Amino acid sequence: MGATRAPLIQRPEGLYCPGGDFHIDPTQPVDRALITHAHADHARAGHGAVLATRQTLDLMAIRYGEDFTASRQIAEGRMRIGEAEVSFHPAGHILGSAQIAVQAGGPRVTVSGDYARVANPSCAPWEPVPCDIFVTEATFGLPVFHHPDPATETQKLLASVAAFPERAHIVGAYSLGKSQRVMMLLREAGWDGPIYIHGSLERLSAYHIAEGVPLGDLRPATDNSLKKADFAGQIVIAPPSVFESTWAQRFPDPVLAFASGWMSVRARARQRGVELPLVISDHVDWADLTRTITELDPAETWVTHGREDAVIRWCELQGRAARPLHLAGYEDEAE
Ligand SMILES: [Zn+2]
Ligand SMILES: [Zn+2]
Repeated sequence: MGATRAPLIQRPEGLYCPGGDFHIDPTQPVDRALITHAHADHARAGHGAVLATRQTLDLMAIRYGEDFTASRQIAEGRMRIGEAEVSFHPAGHILGSAQIAVQAGGPRVTVSGDYARVANPSCAPWEPVPCDIFVTEATFGLPVFHHPDPATETQKLLASVAAFPERAHIVGAYSLGKSQRVMMLLREAGWDGPIYIHGSLERLSAYHIAEGVPLGDLRPATDNSLKKADFAGQIVIAPPSVFESTWAQRFPDPVLAFASGWMSVRARARQRGVELPLVISDHVDWADLTRTITELDPAETWVTHGREDAVIRWCELQGRAARPLHLAGYEDEAE
C-alpha cells in the first residue's frame, strides 16, 4: 500500500487529484474544487467550478454571494471526474458537511474534512466510509482533549440563567454551525422561549429552519423597541467577536458565555473574559478520533489540520502507518 499510488497528492494549495484534475478544500482559487463544508477555512470563493453538497453550495452562496463560483455542481451518488470516482458522505460536523471518498484505480481515500461523532441535531450524522487511506483532521488531537456531554454543558447555561434572572446571558458561538447547534441544544433541554440572535446569524439560521432544523422562536437582539431590562433572564447568541465590542453593553449586566471545544483550556476562557465557558465542539475529541481510526482500520492515515504530531505518534505506537500533511491555511473558524 504505497502513497505513490494514492489518487491524491499534496500541493501547496491543498490536496490535488491528478486523475480527476481537481482539488479538495483548496486554500487558493483553482479551476475545479470539491468542498467538504462551508466553513471559511475549507470553502473559499473564486474557484472556476465547485462540486459540493446542495447545502454547502447554498451556504456558500449565503456567505459569499450567488457569484462565488462560475459553475456549481451538486454532489449526488457516485460521480466520475476524469479517471477518478468520487462520492460524498455525511461528516456530522455542520449542516451540509461531507467526507469525500476518491478512487482512481488504486487505493480508496476518504477525506474527512472536519467531522464529529457526537449526535448533532443540526446536521446528518457521521457515516463510516471504508477506505485504504483515511485523511483525518486533528483539531483536538491531543489526549487532554475530552469533550463532555453537550447536554451537561447546556444545563450549566440554564442553571446560570435561573441563578441570575436579572442578567442577560450572551453565548458567543460561531455564526455557522455552532450557533445553530447551541439553539438545538437549548430546545432539547426544554428552553422553549425566544432566543435572541445577533444580525450575523439571521440568514444562516433561517436557512437551517428552511432545511428542517427546528430552531424555534428566534428574534433579533437589536430590535430597537426592546429596552435593556427586557433582556433580563434572556439568552442572546452572538459571534464571539462581540466580546471585544460595545455591542454587549446594550444588555443588562451580561454573563458572557462561550461555546467552543477550546473552552476546556482555562487560559483561553480567561483571555477572552469568558465568565461561563461551555465545552461544546463540532469536532472529534481525542477518544473519538483514535476510535475512528481503529474502527476504519485504514492501511494508512494522513493527519492534517491541527495536532498532527500526537496523532502520528499514537498511530506509530499502534503499528499503523501514518504521516502528517502540513497543509497550510487551516484554522477552524468554528471552534
Ligand atoms: Zn469546519
Ligand atoms: Zn476546519
